[in-house]
Amino acid sequence: RFNDITMAPPDPILGVSEAFKADTHEMKLNLGVGAYRTEDLQPYVLNVVKKAEKLMLERGENKEYLPIEGLAAFNKATAELLFGANNAVILQQRVATAQGLSGTGSLRLAAALIERYFPGSKVLISSPTWGNHKNIFNDARVPWSEYRYYDPKTVGLDFDGMISDIKAAPDGSFVLLHGCAHNPTGIDPTPGQWEKIADVIQEKKHIPFFDVAYQGFASGSLDADASSVRLFAARGMELLIAQSYSKNLGLYAERIGAINVVCSSSDVAERVKSQLKRLARPMYSNPPVHGARIVANVVGNSDLFDEWKEEMQMMAGRIKNVRKKLYDSLSAKDSSGKDWSFVLKQIGMFSFTGLNKAQSENMTNKWHVYMTKDGRISLAGLSSAKCEYLADAIIDSYHN
Ligand code: PMP
Repeated sequence: RFNDITMAPPDPILGVSEAFKADTHEMKLNLGVGAYRTEDLQPYVLNVVKKAEKLMLERGENKEYLPIEGLAAFNKATAELLFGANNAVILQQRVATAQGLSGTGSLRLAAALIERYFPGSKVLISSPTWGNHKNIFNDARVPWSEYRYYDPKTVGLDFDGMISDIKAAPDGSFVLLHGCAHNPTGIDPTPGQWEKIADVIQEKKHIPFFDVAYQGFASGSLDADASSVRLFAARGMELLIAQSYSKNLGLYAERIGAINVVCSSSDVAERVKSQLKRLARPMYSNPPVHGARIVANVVGNSDLFDEWKEEMQMMAGRIKNVRKKLYDSLSAKDSSGKDWSFVLKQIGMFSFTGLNKAQSENMTNKWHVYMTKDGRISLAGLSSAKCEYLADAIIDSYHN
């Protein structure tokens, strides 16, 4: 009976926000969840989103069910945004796209596809990775193992370790890659390294599986942030790509994203799409319409599209500013001679501080700075005004 059910542990990321809410200290900071905040540390709704919603209201659109695969205008827009409208994979209709419940739901649908059509195949995930990846594959009953990624000695990429672990995996494994702004480390391969990763994956007949949760948010350019995916697509490889609009359009709660499967022909793509629909139907029947219409309106309207790019650059720019300010404060305040330049080199929303579990707990318990226990802080939740305070907290915790 229900009586026998034990208490589940709090989620390592979303649980942090719950603890933050309960804290009454005036200097408290929530650097746990990766959600963009303004300089006043308030949530931000993009102007283009408000404009798109106004258009939608004026048109008086209905609330009929969407098809299982989602809104056609969204699916077209999202694939074109990812690959570029003139990419061969689009022109040859080789991409099976289905709207998903944001990044997480799209990853989950891909995991279900792997479980059903590649039974026993393993997914290789980076060590470390976004915490939910393991949950997703565990719940989908897809076996996974880790490849080396982060090197604590250099606070950089363990490229040789990564390559040799991908080589050592059984042929035909899926290799989960973060398209840009690797979470949690903020460390991305260089273009030359991406080529070498693609070489090994091809050699091993692995299938690349991209998680693209930050397109436009890493560099401020939508195209530059998709270059890793496009490099693989240009080689004619089959690949999986999950997309999310939580961060780049600030649509966290709308749950809008997509799964794209690049196939060897349009015929295969049609069959794959039919199977994605078959998997989605008993799970959630069909996806929600509101976020899909927002994306379709923003991407499909050249004025709104340009304005979106500006707002994205503004958000990415604010994060780069606090990154710089945090680095300056750490360097100025810390007399130990420690090199903090890794903070500057990391890309995207996060900084991987290198703080261990006990030190991360000191950040929270003594300094009221809420963060995940792996030492990751979300710079999107930091204001310029609080950089010095955060630097004091980090230095104290490091040398503790
Ligand atoms: N993948 C990665 C690497 C992420 O960081 C996130 C967001 N934290 C997601 C996927 C998915 O988030 P969502 O389900 O909100 O789109």
